[in-house]
Amino acid sequence: MTELHTGSAAGARFIGDLRDALPPDRVVTRPETLEGLSRDKAHVLEPGRALVGAFPTSAAEVSTVLQLATEHRIPVVPRGAGSGLAGGANAVDGCVILSTLRMDRIVEINTDDMIAVVGPGVINAKLSAEVAKRGLMYAPDPSSFEISSIGGNLATNAGGLRCVKYGVTREATLGLEVVLADGAILRTGRRSVKGVAGYDLVSLFVGSEGTLGVITEATLRLRPSPLPAGTLLASFPSLADAAKAVASMPSVTPSVLELMDQTTIRAVEEWQHLGLDIGSAAMLIARSDTADFGRAELDAVEKACQASGATVIHRSIDALESEGLMGARRAALPALERLGITLLEDVAVPRGRVVDLVQAVVRIAEEHDIRIGTFGHVGDGNLHPTLVIPRGDLAAQGRAMQAAEAIAAAALSLGGTLTGEHGIGTLKRHQLAGEIGPDGLRASWAIKNALDPLGIMNPGKVLPPRQAIPD
Ligand SMILES: Cc1cc2nc3c(=O)[nH]c(=O)nc-3n(C[C@H](O)[C@H](O)[C@H](O)COP(=O)(O)OP(=O)(O)OC[C@H]3O[C@@H](n4cnc5c(N)ncnc54)[C@H](O)[C@@H]3O)c2cc1C
Repeated sequence: MTELHTGSAAGARFIGDLRDALPPDRVVTRPETLEGLSRDKAHVLEPGRALVGAFPTSAAEVSTVLQLATEHRIPVVPRGAGSGLAGGANAVDGCVILSTLRMDRIVEINTDDMIAVVGPGVINAKLSAEVAKRGLMYAPDPSSFEISSIGGNLATNAGGLRCVKYGVTREATLGLEVVLADGAILRTGRRSVKGVAGYDLVSLFVGSEGTLGVITEATLRLRPSPLPAGTLLASFPSLADAAKAVASMPSVTPSVLELMDQTTIRAVEEWQHLGLDIGSAAMLIARSDTADFGRAELDAVEKACQASGATVIHRSIDALESEGLMGARRAALPALERLGITLLEDVAVPRGRVVDLVQAVVRIAEEHDIRIGTFGHVGDGNLHPTLVIPRGDLAAQGRAMQAAEAIAAAALSLGGTLTGEHGIGTLKRHQLAGEIGPDGLRASWAIKNALDPLGIMNPGKVLPPRQAIPD
């Protein structure tokens, strides 16, 4: 890989050329603005120092930024809303932060083809609201849907609450426009739901965390708005019992199947006073949008919960009450953040191994003397054990880092993955080899080198250094 220029003379020339090529409001160098653009929500990571920020409004302007970055060998960090949890959008020293937030146009919503064509800066909730007005649904709904951008969702292959039934972002992506490192504008994919011509480049770019190019437009699959959903809330005497219930309902696919443990329930209740049962060790929230408010499907869920020892089961078809419960689940992370610095894990295992995973997390919390609140998309086997570090307690921070490594190792040993939806970013870069192995790393580096030979795209993210690959 070529040496990237982060020194002041090269940087100054780059900024000068950027200002010459773009309208004045597209380029920012104010230190306070750069500081705000330099980190995401992975609170335990320290970002580098950005050189400049760019706010292009079109693919052509993104192309200009990348051509100049290539010419001057300047690292490029693509950035959506900065809500990522893996340090993917964190600045690296001497970089240009390329924000897509001004590319926020919904270009087309086509109800016949059931697709939307959007810029990367569109906020997920805005797209969802616009398509809902036309009787359609954009399915991927990360808990951060009100703040995260479609570009960020694509780049991380975001999951969400209803992904258990409708699939994650990759399943909703038909076509992409991507500006490559050298400034070339690539259009790949299609508008039809089916299509298998050539390599599946769309799937390659989805989840590539800004390391292969900048996504500048997406053609997204829409679905009919679902029927009104019914909601079921079940309380359990232990976390393992709740996990057992999930493993024992393989014949149903609720539209939501979420878990919260006692630490999380208490944190949400202390903050929002919603009347949650703080005595229960764990809570499952299931929704079904099949006929009659999901009656038959929720009957099956209820039976599985009862057989696994649920102490309280509450069902509702009231839309407001259901939304309140979903809000409680979405409040899990911010509620835990009120208790200290959080280190959010994002492991996923096959659904039948969730019981083993939650038991491993409880054991690891005890062994490392760390408070962990566990919640997540349990129907997908995807949990977020969230390690809470008392502010200023460096010893606890060290123990938390070790506990997080142990949780990731436990997930791998159960046939799972390091990250179900947040991505590798900088947070888990050192662990990637443990999951994909040396051959996987070599293949990944071959792709990276082919698309970004100078290594300017989000360097230091996702892939560990090539030199570190064992023979
Ligand atoms: C409270 C809270 C709840 C969350 N819940 C969920 C959840 O349920 N599911 C989930 O999956 N995530 C969740 N997240 C994490 C985060 O919201 C997602 O990862 C989201 O997809 C990031 O979008 P963003 O626009 O903020 O991207 P950013 O954080 O700005 O960027 C994320 C990554 O994408 C790259 N990137 C951004 N835009 C582009 C682009 N146009 N082209 C190429 N690369 C790009 C960046 O370089 C970076 O690597 C949550 C976060 C918070 C704070």
